[in-house]
Amino acid sequence: MTEQSSIHNQVFMETTEDSSTLYQRFMSQALQQTADIVLVTNRSGFIEYVNPAFEKATGFERQEIIGKNPGFLRSGLHKPDFYRDLWSTIRKGSAFRGVVVNRRKNGELFHEEKTITPLIDESGRITHFVSTGKGVTARIADQQKLHNLAYFDQLTGLPNRLQLRQQLSQAISQAERRKEKLAVMFLDLDRFKDINDSLGHDEGDKVLCEVGQRLQCCLRQEDLVSRSGGDEFIILVRDVKTEKDVAKVAEKILNRFSTSFVVNGHDHMLHISIGMSLYPNDHQSVQNLLKAADLAMYQAKSKGGSRFQFFSSDMEHRVLQRIELERDLKQAIINNNIVNFYQPQYNLHDGKLTGAETLVRWLHPQKGMIGPVHFIPVAEETGSIIELGNHALRKACEHFICWRKNGLKIENISVNVSPFQLSQDIHTEVETVLSEYGLKPGQLTLELTETALMLNPEMAAQALKKLKLLGVQLSIDDFGTGYSSLSYLQRFPLDCLKIDRSFVSDLPVNEESAALVNAIINMAHSLKLKVIAEGVETEQQLNFLLEAGCDGVQGYLLGKPMDELSIMQTLENFQSIDCRKI
Ligand code: C2E
Ligand code: CA
Ligand code: CA
Repeated sequence: MTEQSSIHNQVFMETTEDSSTLYQRFMSQALQQTADIVLVTNRSGFIEYVNPAFEKATGFERQEIIGKNPGFLRSGLHKPDFYRDLWSTIRKGSAFRGVVVNRRKNGELFHEEKTITPLIDESGRITHFVSTGKGVTARIADQQKLHNLAYFDQLTGLPNRLQLRQQLSQAISQAERRKEKLAVMFLDLDRFKDINDSLGHDEGDKVLCEVGQRLQCCLRQEDLVSRSGGDEFIILVRDVKTEKDVAKVAEKILNRFSTSFVVNGHDHMLHISIGMSLYPNDHQSVQNLLKAADLAMYQAKSKGGSRFQFFSSDMEHRVLQRIELERDLKQAIINNNIVNFYQPQYNLHDGKLTGAETLVRWLHPQKGMIGPVHFIPVAEETGSIIELGNHALRKACEHFICWRKNGLKIENISVNVSPFQLSQDIHTEVETVLSEYGLKPGQLTLELTETALMLNPEMAAQALKKLKLLGVQLSIDDFGTGYSSLSYLQRFPLDCLKIDRSFVSDLPVNEESAALVNAIINMAHSLKLKVIAEGVETEQQLNFLLEAGCDGVQGYLLGKPMDELSIMQTLENFQSIDCRKI
């Protein structure tokens, strides 16, 4: 009798109706009807029996597989060692327990938590192997989903901070054993809030996904790009030889960010700040390496962003200073310690005073007067520029109306506007303030730097259009220092162009500056723009500008920025001056 027929007889043949037969019948029904998946092979591993639960779970029917080796179920996902261990366990007479991934007849994967038990006869010989188990595919899928939620960023699909920390910890151990170096890069998008605020979170999310992809393109397979939330990404660079290697990666990333991101047909220029720390040079623990890279990133940002920065031990002190500055600035805004100064502006055609430019100052209770270059960038980075800018605008309008009520013949007040304010519906604020103080829109000029407009030209064009509809004057500041062309500027509804101080200061000695100033004035006039030269300090400069046909001037020669009281007292004098005859 073959082994196959013997088990068949034991389990299924009903010969006599004695108690042993009844028992066999009962056993047979139990195997047939149990919800567990049952497969029995002979000692050589060929299938002798499968129950209906097996057929249901795998899609294979009994008659097509009896006598075959169960190898056809293999998914290919287990390594050869796995099967070797399994067989050596059961051949020794022990039970095997574990989750086996098999493949259904239709090709789908199927996870089974199974026990394979050897059947041993009276003489101690293995006669069969009985595999019982249950399908756990759904449970495994749930576990995988949980794992995915715990270790991956759901927006970009990149590893998240938790996974980064685990991998960094392993990488540190490995680097220690192999005497290697590694680097942590902390990346943060500069002014990403702008995109979210102006175009909505959906578009912001798409941009973030593309950022993730671009970062991955800059790195090797063995490196790890993770998103730790918001617009922050952390990269682990393994097996670094020198600091230069890391600098090269950072340069590559900055380079990749020099082309715009196109999402939903919108062009976004994104800038990124990168801070970097090295193992073992800077620190040796996960926590400290991350903190050091974060500090370095913070430093990169406070230097204006769009750059990379290695960690250095004195950084902690500098960063603390900056945090203090941020905190003090918030307080200063609340305490009204940011005040408006005003610098007179003159018309070169008739020599008369025309207006004043508002320039803010911070009156620090301990440190004295702080100039705007030291705190405007901080205010922009922290978002308090909106409040600061609105306050400056409001005060400027209030003072302007007051001067006019006092009989001063001043026609215009200029206020500097940060690109941040442009993305925040500044036109509604301007409209409210104009009507509150009773200014005619043409009496207000908003100054925007060339670089601010070029950061996001599309958004700037939209915002300027709305402002222009109100009727305010728009001026482009620091002209010549950015990278825009006049033809590009034609797209913006501008009224005036301010030649940057750096060109004026070289006049008239420097021939190049002289030629440039002449060219700017001519081109601006052909585009129907007025031209104001700033930073006029000498009579020679003034005369050159007069000759060149410049429309207006401002500078120390004619008046330094002054506080509101001083300007009230001196404007009368300024009024009587013909600036051309100074
Ligand atoms: P800006 O708008 O280009 O302002 C002109 C700067 O040149 C001012 O510096 C002014 O004091 C200085 N200046 C004027 N005439 C002369 C001169 O003859 N010689 C020299 N050497 N300098 C002269 P300040 O007040 O330090 O302002 C620096 C920058 O801070 C401004 O440059 C502007 O971009 C920004 N800023 C000032 N107030 C505000 C504000 O309320 N909002 C915003 N967003 N930015 C502001
Ligand atoms: Ca200005
Ligand atoms: Ca300027």
